[in-house]
Amino acid sequence: MITRRSAVSALLATPVLVSRVSAQAAALPVVATFSILGDLVRQVGGDRVAVTSLVGPDGDAHSYSPTPADARALAAARVIFANGLGFEGWMTRLVRSSGSRAQQVTVSSGVTPLKAEGGHSHGHGHGHSHGANDPHAWQDVANAKLYVKAIADGLAAADAANAGAYAARAQAYTAELDVLDKEIRARIGAVPRDQRRILTTHDAFAYFARAYEVDFLALRGVSSEAEPSPREIGAVIRQIRDRKVRALFMENISDPRAIQRIAAETGARIGGKLYSDALSPADGPAATYAAMMRHNAGQIAGALVQG
Ligand SMILES: [Zn+2]
Repeated sequence: MITRRSAVSALLATPVLVSRVSAQAAALPVVATFSILGDLVRQVGGDRVAVTSLVGPDGDAHSYSPTPADARALAAARVIFANGLGFEGWMTRLVRSSGSRAQQVTVSSGVTPLKAEGGHSHGHGHGHSHGANDPHAWQDVANAKLYVKAIADGLAAADAANAGAYAARAQAYTAELDVLDKEIRARIGAVPRDQRRILTTHDAFAYFARAYEVDFLALRGVSSEAEPSPREIGAVIRQIRDRKVRALFMENISDPRAIQRIAAETGARIGGKLYSDALSPADGPAATYAAMMRHNAGQIAGALVQG
């Protein structure tokens, strides 16, 4: 402890760190509910914002339990960014209990939502819609562009002096997203359409499926909470055989064991790991939104082409 504290005071004495501390103090404190959204806010806000992401890398926002530190971050925030579409069911209560009076921005407000499937996979007899929306809109880059617009508007409303800078960064990043979208289309487009069938743990890829024309089956519904029953796993195994699913994917936020069991039983190959609802840690392959989308498209195309 003593060693660490003296190392910190030594660092504090250097002019570099002092200037960084003062820059941070001037930055607009904002909160994003999960890591993917945190990255998008950072892309638009740059050094002018200090972003706290409540659900961190590899975290599951569907079943998150907020901490006292989250309430403190909300109380200190000037803007709170949430996905919406029912993704963060724990947010309303958390914001209320934090006493926060920050401006709240629901970044999916411009998105045309897809309805949640309700069942645990497409078309095996369980499909019944609860009328709920599918929250995973960020899996289509076109929707991420709408998120970016909402973020720029939200930051400008809270920090009018820097509105021009936020708009400029949003515009530059949107151009990057256009390139990313084309790259994903090229990667997936290299796989014959009738071979694009894969299975994931939870139903997080309906927006990706629609945008990039890949058929996804999922073990669970749009919320990752419920464990699949043996009967449901049996139904999925039959589907994999009937529909010639070519690869199974684990997810960074989900327990891989059910997928591994199904792979062993069907002989289907595990194509790798997809990042659905959270980024990887900074040293992982999906540390930003763009890296995540590139990684997922590469994993999917790679597994299908080999198959
Ligand atoms: Zn999800």
